Amino acid sequence: MANRCTTSLRFRFLIALTSVFLLAVIVLGLLTRFVFFPALYKEEQSIIINEMDRLERSVTVNQQQLQAQARDWATWDDTYEFVQGNYPRYAEVNFSQSMFEEMRYKLMAFFNADGEVHFLGGLNPTTGQYQTCETATQTCSWMMPYVVSMQRSIQEGSDQKHNVLYTHPAPTMVASSPILRTDSSGPPTGWLFKVRAMNSDWLGVLSELTGMPLSLTVRPIASIPASRTTSTIMGNTVLAERFLTTYQPGAIIAISSRLERDRYLAGLRSLRYVLLWTGVMMLLVIVAVLVLLQKMILAPLRALTLFTEQLSQESLPQHGLTHRSDEIGLLARAFERQFTRQRQLNEKLSILSTHDTLTGLPNRRLFDHELQRAVEQAIAHHTPVAVMMLDIDHFKLFNDHYGHPKGDHCLATVSAKLQAFAENNDVLIARTGGEEFSVLAEMPADQAHRLANAINAEIDALNYPHAFSPVAPHLTFSIGISTLEIDEHFTPSALMSTADQALYQAKKAGRHQVRLYAPPLANETVSAHNTPP
Ligand code: GH3
Ligand code: MG
Ligand code: MG
Repeated sequence: MANRCTTSLRFRFLIALTSVFLLAVIVLGLLTRFVFFPALYKEEQSIIINEMDRLERSVTVNQQQLQAQARDWATWDDTYEFVQGNYPRYAEVNFSQSMFEEMRYKLMAFFNADGEVHFLGGLNPTTGQYQTCETATQTCSWMMPYVVSMQRSIQEGSDQKHNVLYTHPAPTMVASSPILRTDSSGPPTGWLFKVRAMNSDWLGVLSELTGMPLSLTVRPIASIPASRTTSTIMGNTVLAERFLTTYQPGAIIAISSRLERDRYLAGLRSLRYVLLWTGVMMLLVIVAVLVLLQKMILAPLRALTLFTEQLSQESLPQHGLTHRSDEIGLLARAFERQFTRQRQLNEKLSILSTHDTLTGLPNRRLFDHELQRAVEQAIAHHTPVAVMMLDIDHFKLFNDHYGHPKGDHCLATVSAKLQAFAENNDVLIARTGGEEFSVLAEMPADQAHRLANAINAEIDALNYPHAFSPVAPHLTFSIGISTLEIDEHFTPSALMSTADQALYQAKKAGRHQVRLYAPPLANETVSAHNTPP
């Protein structure tokens, strides 16, 4: 049973479809792992780089503004005169605490043509107060690290960069410009440096401008990776860092922002939905295929199997399958035709094997079969059975004088008469020898005796000419009867044997007569089937 289950079409289809499903799931898994996820990650990285580019551009714009302001001040005649020493009230007129705060300047430094400090003004990082000095000493000593870097820059001459970032003593952006007349004529009379602190206030402004939460750190160059941008994923956010080179060696400024991974997570959600629905759809397709298979193929096939089983039985079933217009209908009709033809052939064969070809009467085989059945029934239910043996008298003489074909015709005519008689009297008459016939009549001896006489009368009435018979001018029968009532052996062969003996007695007594079997006397010996002369 289990074996039949595993070899069934349904099981094989289930296995095949499940395998296809699993294969598809594996392919989807591999695609997700090696194509979809990397693509999502790549997109996220490009978004991060874009964001950090935008951030850096904002810093650059801020630097450029500071540079523009420095250049503006440095090419102003008042400034020129101030550095020349011709405008002592310059600082008083132009600088104030509020100006530095509004412009978000930390320091403004003026240098003369020799690179020496001419004037310094700035907001003290400790007190937050505006102060001016002529040297970076005492209360202005906090300015010294800036001044040192600026003087180094001046010494570099034309190579100097006018827009740089300092890390020491604090992260700042520094813009410088040579001090010239307004018409930019003449050699520079000095240099102007403007310094803007990259402190939390500055970060706040930048953060507002970019819409990104920002923080800033100074790092030693050794700890910086090769790329200008790094990203570290932290759950639903990513910490992105952009590294900005500075004027001072050995350190770098890192601006970092914690970015939401909205796009990535939305992409991930979409991908999961797609994968989930792909899986669900595949499962639905498999279920649909199995249901269709069951409905369109397996169920009709089962019906076809039942149909063919019914066909092989007795009656032809009336089945809707034969009215189908599809392949199953074709198959059912072909089976039906085949079985009908086979049944007809079987019937023909059965008739051929149980009937005599010359006369059409049942043959010996059928007679023996029916006799066996009748004897068994008689023994079981105590019903009567009689057997008669009919033999045409002097038929050899008929053949000898009229010829064999006429003999055949005679046999056929007599047989037709016997068949009609059998049907009218509900008995079985078979041709059991050349010119011998046997009758199976399920009746007692006296009734059988009357029936035998009736047969003889029928044959006489036929008046089939037999001019060479010593008994009569027409064809005559001798008949021997035996019945189960008088036979103690109760076997078909014994019944036939005693009927044969009765026939012998009829022949011996002169032919053309009926004899009921009578057991021989003790001293009388009968040799059955020894036709008397
Ligand atoms: P009896 O009165 O003692 O029965 O003599 P009989 O001549 O009828 O019997 P016998 O057994 O001597 O001969 C039977 C004959 O029946 C011999 C045979 O030629 C003939 N016969 C047997 N079968 C056929 C047949 O199929 N067709 C023809 N034409 N003759 C047959
Ligand atoms: Mg005979
Ligand atoms: Mg005979």
